[in-house]
Amino acid sequence: MSTPHRTAPDRGRTLLGPALRLIHTGQAPTRSALTGALDVTRATAGAVTGELEALGLISVDSRPAGGGRGRPSHRLALADPGPAVLAAQLHADGVSVALAALGGRLLETAHLPLPADTAPDRLLGAVAEAGATLARGSRRRVLGFALALPNPVTEPDGAALAALHFDWPAGAPVAELFADRVAGADLGPRARTVLPTAVANDANLAALAEHRHGAGRDARHLLLVTSGHRGVGGALVVDGRLHTGSSGLALEVGHLTVDPLGRPCPCGNRGCLNAETDPDALFAAAKRRPDPDRPLLPQARELARDPESADAVEHVVDRLGLGLAGLVNILNPDRIVLSGLHLDLLAAAPDRLAAQVAERCLWGRSGRVPIVPAQVAHAGLVGAAELAWEPYLEDPQAVAGS
Ligand SMILES: [Zn+2]
Repeated sequence: MSTPHRTAPDRGRTLLGPALRLIHTGQAPTRSALTGALDVTRATAGAVTGELEALGLISVDSRPAGGGRGRPSHRLALADPGPAVLAAQLHADGVSVALAALGGRLLETAHLPLPADTAPDRLLGAVAEAGATLARGSRRRVLGFALALPNPVTEPDGAALAALHFDWPAGAPVAELFADRVAGADLGPRARTVLPTAVANDANLAALAEHRHGAGRDARHLLLVTSGHRGVGGALVVDGRLHTGSSGLALEVGHLTVDPLGRPCPCGNRGCLNAETDPDALFAAAKRRPDPDRPLLPQARELARDPESADAVEHVVDRLGLGLAGLVNILNPDRIVLSGLHLDLLAAAPDRLAAQVAERCLWGRSGRVPIVPAQVAHAGLVGAAELAWEPYLEDPQAVAGS
């Protein structure tokens, strides 16, 4: 079979997505950087940036950057104001919604408490309405809406499993319900007529955000482990793509056993990473009780940094180290990013955590994997925005549709 002949315009078109991705992630601030990263001629890079500019996605500044040596290159920036997407995150303490630009930038965020009725259609309806309010108040064209959920989400059908915080029935068709609620919301005159929607697990999306805009940049096998408001989540990004398994349920790291006689987990077992290293576990180890009137995570983060709770921190860090060592032996990542409470545990006892991992890893090399703190604020929201941008990063010409 012969390779189909590809014409020059086809080639230019296939480069639009990779070029936009490089500018979006800050890897191509100039046209010469883009030329090098895409390994194309200057003329091709010029045609590609010209097309992205015509689509209203980037701006090309031909004035010399000044100060630098060598031939000045055109500076590339994301269009401002350019189009936007809506991102939302559901968590045990409420709902966060944001309007986001390209470049991992949240333009505006809103936070609301969980409604009294958290049935899937009601809760997703409240999310759609909150997003619609942001869309109507913006002068930007709104191109998509994606939602991060604190529970596993199956692929490709988008059903929520074990959504314990909200008492949802197992298998609630969240992707479909969310699309329905967004389609029924008044998003104003500047949103796409049929707004593409998507839903995914929040730890997966946080990993995507860290890989593109934060502590996971350039990692080839990035493992993210996080403890947010309740429980523990994990995600793996391999060569820039999320590894989600055969049906979206990979990297359920929360149910790795780290103490067979440990605390009960909602899954029915004992001593899961979920039950041994989340905010509740730290409070239990410190024999303290959180203030029920304040969100749990910030209180746990304060506790992790309190020198008086050093013993409790060590107890939890040892269990986190056990869990990470198990994951390192299976996945052989080249970087581990910790976020949520785990970021504070790392800050409180970095050497102890690294030693725990190194001691239990079979080969010295994998045990010396860098363990670093997350950098992206509101990573779940930033990651949801990445999901909403994805169709346009794949094919930037899709922005031209109505
Ligand atoms: Zn469990």
